[in-house]
Amino acid sequence: NYRCRSAFKLLEIDSKHHILHPGHHVIDCGAAPGAWSQVAVEKVNSLGRDSAARAGFVVGVDLLNITPLDGAVFLSNSDITDSDTQRKIISVLPSGRADVILSDMAPNATGIRDLDHQRLVNMCLSLLELSQRVLLPGGTFLCKVWDGSEISLVRDRLRQRFQDVRTVKPKASRMESAEIYLLAKMHKQQKH
Ligand code: SAM
Repeated sequence: NYRCRSAFKLLEIDSKHHILHPGHHVIDCGAAPGAWSQVAVEKVNSLGRDSAARAGFVVGVDLLNITPLDGAVFLSNSDITDSDTQRKIISVLPSGRADVILSDMAPNATGIRDLDHQRLVNMCLSLLELSQRVLLPGGTFLCKVWDGSEISLVRDRLRQRFQDVRTVKPKASRMESAEIYLLAKMHKQQKH
């Protein structure tokens, strides 16, 4: 039983694009109530249920309280854009790095479409900064955006840092018409 129907969006994206694998270390941004984390726990084998496969790790972060879940570490009442939160994420990750960053985050909508779009774009850009610090080469970044004029900006930024960037719209998300996901795979090795 999933905590929220949003689980089906991630399941659908994963079954098509194969982003979560046993052994992966995952950051779930905007994790409350925890449905995406439930999916991640299963897919990365963080409980070690499949003893033949590698065991992964899931850390979820949200401004709200997140009810505990076996197989995940949650940072509740935490703003992902805050540098203290980012430090904490890095400290709980077993190697300080992640294979996958998921974000289903959304700011509270004001109803002013351009403003809401802009705020979510800013969140995505801030996550991209985090990804530069923690995402392993070859890693994957999936984030929700609301359609609007600045999507191409986010996509361009992603293309500088990932080899494969695409827009995905799961069927389970068709009711929320403005909502799409940007999926970026193959994080490039950082040049120093
Ligand atoms: N994927 C979740 C699930 O399947 O259970 C649902 C996520 S819900 C659509 C979006 C979440 O993003 C909200 O719980 C909200 O509190 C969170 N959020 C928004 N801004 C945030 C921020 N700056 N830092 C952390 N979480 C944030």
